[in-house]
Amino acid sequence: MKFYVIASSSKGNVSYLETGNKKILIDAGISYTKIKKALKDIGVNIKHVTDIFITHEHSDHVKGLKVLMRYISPKLHMSLGTKEALQLSDDEVNVIGAFEEFIIEDLNVLPLPLSHDAREPLGFLFSNAKSKIVYITDTGYLSKGVLERIENATLYYLETNHDPYLLTNSTRPYYLINRILNEKGHLSNYDAAYYFSKLIGKETTHLIHAHVSEECNTSEHIEKTYIEVLKAQKVDFSNVTFIEAKPDEPLEVIEL
Ligand SMILES: [Zn+2]
Ligand SMILES: [Zn+2]
Repeated sequence: MKFYVIASSSKGNVSYLETGNKKILIDAGISYTKIKKALKDIGVNIKHVTDIFITHEHSDHVKGLKVLMRYISPKLHMSLGTKEALQLSDDEVNVIGAFEEFIIEDLNVLPLPLSHDAREPLGFLFSNAKSKIVYITDTGYLSKGVLERIENATLYYLETNHDPYLLTNSTRPYYLINRILNEKGHLSNYDAAYYFSKLIGKETTHLIHAHVSEECNTSEHIEKTYIEVLKAQKVDFSNVTFIEAKPDEPLEVIEL
């Protein structure tokens, strides 16, 4: 599989996954023009995108979708709640449900239920014969049922949104701070590091820090928390490459 993070932050989220002859976008939260350019930079024509998976209806995940669908006609996959929130019709969407695994060519997709202030948000476990990618962003917590299905993946794309101290001491309004901290909000550095310490296995080679807040987080806070938690949990993370996703600068393509 090829995995390419195009943009990740509360300003916009898009990633690209390629396997066999499937060319897949996950979310479409930046403009069509920007997505097209980012794909062109790695030699992919946007017209060849075959599928788009949408995690949820918040604008930082779907901003570019309408325009994109004017130019290309990939298969759209999302939950019923997301479909309704986006007011799309039945014939436009392949409705998928949490824990209802399905296959597109050589790719297995397991949608994962998340806890976020959206109608029916989903994360994803993508797997083929060689590798597994877990894609989780915008959630207040991960349930036991999700955790036990996503152990020992090759790559984790995992939200590490905020440092709680920076968040509570920010100039943000109280209701927004509460929204982020509650169980339907976003994962903190500590939450993400703790979950990762439970999930990491022999096959794990990459962790991508996703949806990092620009105001309430820093690379140093993320690194410090991860090291503290992984050491406290006595986890060997020497085989793992840690990468931070950027708001408006694509990462290098990762081949798994
Ligand atoms: Zn988001
Ligand atoms: Zn969201």
